[in-house]
Amino acid sequence: MQFTESEKLFEASKQCIPGGVNSPVRAYQAVHRPPVFIDHAGGSHIYDVDGNAYIDYVCSWGPCILGHAYPRVIKAVQAACENGLTYGAPTAKELKLAELIRSCIPSMEVLRLVSSGTEATMSAIRVARGFTGRDMIIKFCGCYHGHSDGLLVKAGSGALTQSVPDSRGVPADYTRNTLVAEYNQPDSVERLFEAHGKEIAAVIVEPVAANMGVVLPDEGFLAFLRKITEDYGALLIFDEVITGFRLGVGGAQEYFGVTPDLTTLGKIIGGGMPVGAYGGRKEIMDMVAPVGPVYQAGTLSGNPIATTAGIETLTILKESPEIYTQIAEKAKTVADCIKETMGDAVCVNRIGSLMSVFFTADAVSDYASATSSDVEQYAAYFGYMLEHGIYLAPSQFEAMFVSAAHTAEDIARTCEVIRGYRR
Ligand SMILES: *Cc1c(COP(=O)(O)O)cnc(C)c1O
Repeated sequence: MQFTESEKLFEASKQCIPGGVNSPVRAYQAVHRPPVFIDHAGGSHIYDVDGNAYIDYVCSWGPCILGHAYPRVIKAVQAACENGLTYGAPTAKELKLAELIRSCIPSMEVLRLVSSGTEATMSAIRVARGFTGRDMIIKFCGCYHGHSDGLLVKAGSGALTQSVPDSRGVPADYTRNTLVAEYNQPDSVERLFEAHGKEIAAVIVEPVAANMGVVLPDEGFLAFLRKITEDYGALLIFDEVITGFRLGVGGAQEYFGVTPDLTTLGKIIGGGMPVGAYGGRKEIMDMVAPVGPVYQAGTLSGNPIATTAGIETLTILKESPEIYTQIAEKAKTVADCIKETMGDAVCVNRIGSLMSVFFTADAVSDYASATSSDVEQYAAYFGYMLEHGIYLAPSQFEAMFVSAAHTAEDIARTCEVIRGYRR
């Protein structure tokens, strides 16, 4: 395989875009090679500028659950473009998308559309603070909720110490109110509530953690979070930016039967266009301006093109729930193949069509076990897969996504390549 065109573009991009990319993980730093630049995509395949074809298991980090350039979605978007790209005024389409989301996720009685997952989580936290009149939040080590200041914290050393920001440029004052607990460790949450109970506005959690690789919640963990937040008068926020419409149209809250106060969505609900959403019980969402005193706005929020892509995508998913059984089955075939080929050298975590292979012999159930995996082994595996036409996330700590467009042949080919891997 040749990568010369990609390499040229990368060198040129580095001259005018930080690191040559508009989102850091795309730079392939963790896998020690220049990134491939994409030319186009269709169905299960993505094609780079050198003409290499890959079976795509990144799916734009989740949104492309139907595969790339799904004809019905593209057609609707094209038709919508003819009518203007944005108005900055309300439309019937926004109502339609909001009603569609609510019909699938009933706990989102009232919801607001935004343009990214980052905006959704940032706004949900503002609402939780406005509603409770409290400032502190609890997040979990290894859970990612976008890049807003107060959420860029993961490494609190010792559950009760104050958090330090993960990024330069974030004043320590901004993260003073962010407490960090350990995923799947209820006692770490209990300790924070015992110390700060009356000051905690909300607990925000990825109900299935998918940004330290995929880590499933232990049995009862989400129910525990539901109970302790209720006991202390705090809100529970499920960040379903990945799990929403991925585990099923009802998201993780339906899958696990635990209902949060607020939910954030992104990725799939835009069908490949920039859309996010946050919502929850009416009495809480009534805090949001212009009804209430919590301010949040957006020039392109509810954009007609983005909402069109979202409406088409969610309608297809809602009309065809068998998609979820099918993509889970395909993911299971790949997961089983990885486990059979690599045995005890790896831990494969999977739920539905969402999975990760960790290069560690240990079970991965939290941040410490996830980060115990051998990232250099992942880098070698990634390079081998790429050069054999399988496009995986360029980091150990990202998920693998299977879409409805992956065919039986794609899955068989993927397994054949995996079986050929020699560490
Ligand atoms: C991707 C992601 C976000 C951020 O969404 P953006 O659209 O990238 O801003 C937030 N939370 C979770 C769980 C995510 O996976």
